[in-house]
Amino acid sequence: MRRSIRCLFAFVWLAAFWVPFSDAAAQGTRSTETYKRIKAQIDAVPAIDTHDHLWPFERLPALTDTADGKGVNLAGIWRNSYYTWYNPISPWQASDTFDSWWSRAKHDFRNARATSFYRYQLPAFQDLYGVDFDRITDEQARGLNQRIVAHYKDQRWLYEVVTERANIELMFNDPYWARFDFAQSYPWEVKVFNVTSLVRASHPSEYTNPADSPYVFAQKHGLALDSLDDYLKVLERLFTAAKDQGAVCLKSTLAYERSLRFERVTKEAAEKGFGKRRANLSPQEIKDFEDFIFWRLCELSAKYELPFQIHTGQARIQTSNPMNLVDLIEANPKTKFILFHGGFPWVGETGVIAQKHGFHVWVDSVWLPMLSYSMGKRAFHEWLESFPSNRIMWGADCNHAEGIYGATEYHRRCLCEVLAEKVMAGDLTEEHALAIGRQIMRENALELFPQLKDRLWKHTGKKLEPPVARK
Ligand SMILES: [Zn+2]
Repeated sequence: MRRSIRCLFAFVWLAAFWVPFSDAAAQGTRSTETYKRIKAQIDAVPAIDTHDHLWPFERLPALTDTADGKGVNLAGIWRNSYYTWYNPISPWQASDTFDSWWSRAKHDFRNARATSFYRYQLPAFQDLYGVDFDRITDEQARGLNQRIVAHYKDQRWLYEVVTERANIELMFNDPYWARFDFAQSYPWEVKVFNVTSLVRASHPSEYTNPADSPYVFAQKHGLALDSLDDYLKVLERLFTAAKDQGAVCLKSTLAYERSLRFERVTKEAAEKGFGKRRANLSPQEIKDFEDFIFWRLCELSAKYELPFQIHTGQARIQTSNPMNLVDLIEANPKTKFILFHGGFPWVGETGVIAQKHGFHVWVDSVWLPMLSYSMGKRAFHEWLESFPSNRIMWGADCNHAEGIYGATEYHRRCLCEVLAEKVMAGDLTEEHALAIGRQIMRENALELFPQLKDRLWKHTGKKLEPPVARK
């Protein structure tokens, strides 16, 4: 009896409140005035994007061979999005016309419409081309493709999208295609020293790509490389070169290849691995060598004041939880660590590392909203609650204009939703929310990399132009 009265009461209560509540929930944060105000302000903040892979214009991976010659088309844009990581898109064949490719490819989206790897691309089609990709017609697709092809005939398109439409002032570029060249292809580019391949240096034959090889670098610079001691000198020389050429940080993607647990190893143990092919080493000897070198990279990171961007989370997931790095982080207090991708899916773990080791650990949400928009929101909510807001940065992590635009817009959206929700819940003033938004999109990177202040250009009111316009 009492139970049924309680049920009845609960029902009446729910009936009274459910309708307005569900309306608000269905409308979502993005339809609120608070969100719109915050979003407009954060859109206007010139962003410092801490991570991309923007190849030189002539070598963009989205370039595709077509009957009309080599160019970037819609197939190239999707092929070079994250979408294809778990959902194949019909490949473009040399004999394809747009219509023949699209007749196959348009069916390739049906299983992944809700995925963030699909949805982060959509703002680019909507905002740059006025096309709603969810409802695209064949005719619109053909028109979209033509306009993409036309845009990429001139690299001004990249300039316009990156610096104006996406409002990016400076962009860190990870040149995994030419790690030790320290070349600069774009005026907004900030150089990154990719050290991933350096742990593999037990033997020259470990490098199939000369661009990855410290042996090739040593040869070019007339340095001997016959012992571990020699190698440690070559490493110093590489760091000097990186620093001289203007690199501002290190980057490792070893989480794709091996465990993020790097043990402290003696030099004697590491020496056993030097001069031998990995095929002739035991797994333990390989690990000892790599671990020793990685610890040395952390020391050099501190010595040369090059903060260390480390890929954590989604990669080789058996061993890519950022908690694996905690001993290394603790033992290297002078090294500034930047934990990439928020450690997805271990965003809470990443947060507690920043909470405990905040004086030398930063968290970078690069790529995270594209892995899962909801996880991105959860991460921003939790991080802002668990450690200071000047420890979070962001990046787009793409290799063409549309990807960079989509990722940037998706990121701003995710962050602004979280800020608006905190304001509407009464947990943050709007003024403070805007200050946090500015920090994450821009100011935190300038605080950690003060040398970038000399590279800022937007306040001059000038536009960045390509050195020579391509016809
Ligand atoms: Zn990346």
